[in-house]
Amino acid sequence: MDCVFCKIINGDIPSAKVYENEYVYAFKDINPNAKVHVLVVPKVHIESIDSVDEENIEAVSQVIKAIPTVAKECGLSNGYRVITNVGEDGGQTVKHIHFHILGGEKLPVKLA
Ligand code: 5GP
Ligand code: ZN
Repeated sequence: MDCVFCKIINGDIPSAKVYENEYVYAFKDINPNAKVHVLVVPKVHIESIDSVDEENIEAVSQVIKAIPTVAKECGLSNGYRVITNVGEDGGQTVKHIHFHILGGEKLPVKLA
């Protein structure tokens, strides 16, 4: 499958790993938008939140569960933001569900 995050998970594209377990992989965003900017993804390919179903919800749950661990690993003791972009209007550029963890500073723009 021609998916950049599947390739990162498989080790075919190098990445700066922050955390990994059986279900989840977390790595630094190549183009950071904050002092800390990490992406957390399931190891299975799911396109976005829009394609979550009974079959894959467990994999997505594992990602959510890993987020506080990843944040702790990154030293984000003063809070952070979690974002997942969906589809065209959401500005999603990589079609493998991912949760951005942003922090390490007071984040500037607050849309919600
Ligand atoms: P999206 O725009 O889909 O919500 O987020 C995709 C994110 O993936 C972007 O922030 C982009 O910088 C990051 N990204 C795209 N390609 C790569 C890559 O090859 N390696 C890493 N580490 N991040 C990537
Ligand atoms: Zn993928």
